[in-house]
Amino acid sequence: MRRAWAICRGRCPRCLSGRVWRGMFSMNEPCPVCGLRFERESGYWTGAMVASYAIGIPVLALIVVGVWVASGWDILVALVVGDVLFLAVVPFVWRYSRVVWLHLDWLIDPVPTAR
Ligand SMILES: [Zn+2]
Repeated sequence: MRRAWAICRGRCPRCLSGRVWRGMFSMNEPCPVCGLRFERESGYWTGAMVASYAIGIPVLALIVVGVWVASGWDILVALVVGDVLFLAVVPFVWRYSRVVWLHLDWLIDPVPTAR
C-alpha cells in the first residue's frame, strides 16, 4: 500500500519518500533522500517504454471512448479528436511510466543499500 502511494506521488522505489522528479521534465539524480541512482545503467529507461505503452493505451482508449460517447460523432472522428486530446496527457504518461518502471524494476531486482 505504501508503494502504491509512493508511485502515485512519484517517489523513490527504495526510501519511498525522495522525489523522482525535480520539475515537469527534469529528474532528480540521485534520490535526494537515500541517494539511489535512478538511472542504473545506460539504456535503463528503455524498460519505461513498456510501462508507457501499458499506461498510455488504456488512457487513450478512455479518451477516445469518452469523446465518442459524449459527442455522438463517427468513431473515426472521435479517434482523431481523442488522439489530439491525448497529446495533452503524454507528459504525464511519460512521467508515470518512469516511476512505474523504477518500482517494477525495484521489485524484481532491488539495489542493496551501499552504506
Ligand atoms: Zn530514495
